[in-house]
Amino acid sequence: HELLAELARRDHRLDEAFRHLQTTRCLEDEFRARAGALAEDRVPLLAAVDGRGGADGVDEADRLVVVLEDREVVIEGGRAVIEGGGAVLDDGQVVLERRVESLESNLDERTRELEQALIDLRDLADRSQLDPLTGLASRQHLTDVLNELIGAPSPGAVIAIDLDRFGRINETLGHEAGDTVLAEVAQRLRRSVRPRDTLARWGGDEFMVLLPGLRDLAAATAAAEVVRTAITATLRIGDDEIVPSASIGVAVAGDSMADPAALLRAADTALERAKALGKGRVEVFGDELADDARRRFDTEAALRHALDHGGFELHFQPVHPNRPDEPLAAEALLRMSDPRTGGLLSPGSFLDVAEETGLARPIGDWVLDAACAAAGTWARTGVPFHLAVNVSASQLDPAFPDLVAATLARHGVEASILVIELTEHSLLEADDAQVAALVDLRSTGVRIALDDFGTAYSSLSHLRRFPVDIVKIDQSFVAGICRNERDHAIVRAVVDLAQTFHFQVIAEGVETTEQLDQQRRLGCDGAQGFLIGRPKPAAAFAELLSTRFMFEALSARSA
Ligand code: C2E
Ligand code: CA
Ligand code: CA
Repeated sequence: HELLAELARRDHRLDEAFRHLQTTRCLEDEFRARAGALAEDRVPLLAAVDGRGGADGVDEADRLVVVLEDREVVIEGGRAVIEGGGAVLDDGQVVLERRVESLESNLDERTRELEQALIDLRDLADRSQLDPLTGLASRQHLTDVLNELIGAPSPGAVIAIDLDRFGRINETLGHEAGDTVLAEVAQRLRRSVRPRDTLARWGGDEFMVLLPGLRDLAAATAAAEVVRTAITATLRIGDDEIVPSASIGVAVAGDSMADPAALLRAADTALERAKALGKGRVEVFGDELADDARRRFDTEAALRHALDHGGFELHFQPVHPNRPDEPLAAEALLRMSDPRTGGLLSPGSFLDVAEETGLARPIGDWVLDAACAAAGTWARTGVPFHLAVNVSASQLDPAFPDLVAATLARHGVEASILVIELTEHSLLEADDAQVAALVDLRSTGVRIALDDFGTAYSSLSHLRRFPVDIVKIDQSFVAGICRNERDHAIVRAVVDLAQTFHFQVIAEGVETTEQLDQQRRLGCDGAQGFLIGRPKPAAAFAELLSTRFMFEALSARSA
């Protein structure tokens, strides 16, 4: 055990060294008891051997054989040699046999050596501050080992592990069960890494493994997968069965990561991503390109899934008219349910991928249809309103005006209710056929809005080229409408232009009452923004629409 402890210590497996240290201590006590007996008489020793079941750990040679648990340890000339096999005895049974004369002469020296070994190991164990629950090394110890390694040619990899939903185990089964899970996971970790790897409990339900010598990501990832699989086996606690699961981050030391703190942080970053991507998985700290590629890949899958399984929905944001005889309008804004969280995603997180993958067309068709369906329902209540639908340039082909007309007809909606919004950016590369399509569309009675006005290069030339009924001033200008002279001047200039070009002006992103007053004073025709109302589901918008309509009808009657 002394030797095993020493080997473990060299490999930084301090938890193991610690266990051997304790065994050595027990052994030493036994040793002393025997030695006392021997000093008095040789006979009690032999009687002790017989009394302990007559085990045959007997050796002819001038040496001492100790069988403890299932290991046979031969101590020869003051050094311990481990041999395989040996009789399996009950715990703590020790069998001694040898020529007593030489034992006596060696005993004092043996005891001194053992005592020194004990002191050294105890010292080391103290310094490594073993975690009492799991027997794993401490944060400090792993960091020390990493510090020693980091100068080496291939320092290695680190794996950061975090148990998923561990809090729930604690809550539902109690802290004792939680401790059992942690101890069991520590065991599984121990079995799934190499002897030379250092295992540490990093905190609560977090663990860290240091794998010296691993230099390529593939090998490190494979090691992490082994760990993940080991953790994921079913575990029984009383009558309950638990399947632990872990999120894992991997980082490999390299030129760009020659600093221990950076390496640990990198593994942690990868771990965070593993959690964000749905837990129970291994993520590698790597280049950002790979990250972006993954996001695109995942987003495309989510978009296709949403298209096939009804994962899209529309929210409607009110657009408030400044003139009392104009009806309230709504802008339809797309939402996609997040396959990972079940929450709703905004278009900013998926529109770019939709465009790249050619999915913008089918999604746009769905949006148009869903918006017109909602408009059809509202129209049947007799409440007047306008409805704006965002369209991407990729939807704008010669067939688009017919598609719009057919969709409107299908849901019994008048063309004059509909506004098609196109951002300035999306029109930058519009060709003549697309301009012609807009002209066609407009001739059917549908109005055209130029969205995010002022954000694209040469905004004024757009007014000349496209048939435009409404200009929506981008929220970045509206934000400064009260305090920034330039923003103020730009909004005023657009309103001036509107008189010449005959379009309406809507101020986007109105968030304060000052902005609301200011856009009205400057002569805008309508306002949209969180102050007036946030985007809401169709039913909630319908309610807003009818309440407002009734309120206005009542105040008109009393006036
Ligand atoms: P947008 O057309 O300019 O729509 C207004 C965006 O500003 C919405 O974000 C809305 O939630 C947000 N917003 C409204 N009022 C305020 C405010 O007071 N303060 C701030 N900070 N934000 C406000 P959302 O829904 O995330 O949409 C983002 C963009 O995605 C839209 O900008 C539009 O360009 C595009 N989009 C939305 N739905 C569709 C769609 O069905 N098809 C296409 N092609 N694009 C869409
Ligand atoms: Ca818009
Ligand atoms: Ca806008």
